[in-house]
Amino acid sequence: MACVPPAIESEVNYRDGYRCAYCGRSGFDVWTSMGIDHFKPKSRGGSDGTSNLHACCSACNNYMQAKEFATMEEARQHCRKCMTQDWIAYQVLIAKWLADQMPRLAE
Ligand SMILES: [Zn+2]
Repeated sequence: MACVPPAIESEVNYRDGYRCAYCGRSGFDVWTSMGIDHFKPKSRGGSDGTSNLHACCSACNNYMQAKEFATMEEARQHCRKCMTQDWIAYQVLIAKWLADQMPRLAE
């Protein structure tokens, strides 16, 4: 998560309604921690101005890394795609775990 002064962070969170600008999850949702994302990464010359900053959940922040997107919509699509892939991987893990708990009917 990017380090910006607390006053700026509060301002951006308030403007974005305490929701992730990419996936729309709320900072009040379970398992979501919120931070601030530089739309244009600082490492690529992005500014600390509020127009370059967005409220961002930890998952989306992780998906974005230091990637650069042309538009917000492009960034949102990227996060949605990552989230769907994570969800499918999670379901596969659960299915495997459940299968391990079952008696081996075929034997
Ligand atoms: Zn998010």
